[in-house]
Amino acid sequence: MLLPWTMGHWDTGYLDNRGYFRVYRPDYPRAYGSGYTKRYYIVWWLNTGEVIDTPRYIIHHKNGNKSDDRFDNLEKKEHGQHTLDHNKPRMEAARTECICNTCGVLFHIKRHRLKEKGRGSYCSQQCYKIKRLLGGIKDEAHTLHRSSRVHF
Ligand SMILES: [Zn+2]
Ligand SMILES: [Zn+2]
Repeated sequence: MLLPWTMGHWDTGYLDNRGYFRVYRPDYPRAYGSGYTKRYYIVWWLNTGEVIDTPRYIIHHKNGNKSDDRFDNLEKKEHGQHTLDHNKPRMEAARTECICNTCGVLFHIKRHRLKEKGRGSYCSQQCYKIKRLLGGIKDEAHTLHRSSRVHF
């Protein structure tokens, strides 16, 4: 007969085909019909008394290993924020640093925008206009990274 899962029987259960460990805990209010639930929900529940209100909230695995359900590795997040947090490193990688030709300020720009004429050389429309008025617009673009250099 199947006993309800406890933290003392950590590895009793199974890894599902998406890499989440599932445990038998039919008394969990959001258990599936089978009585099984992802282990991290149960760990969270046993440690905090809180039933995660999915999909509004989710449990994030801090170290990125979604079967490492130790309580210390878990963090409750709002769904939208969680998605943003996961996309942030990629968004940052897609940015590059540039120095404005007019005012010399360091600014960030999305890499794909460097293909647009004048982008990466001026921090703003304002600075672009000033430079053009001063007749210096044919200057070569200055960027910190050679790879993102732009030529007019
Ligand atoms: Zn996450
Ligand atoms: Zn500027």
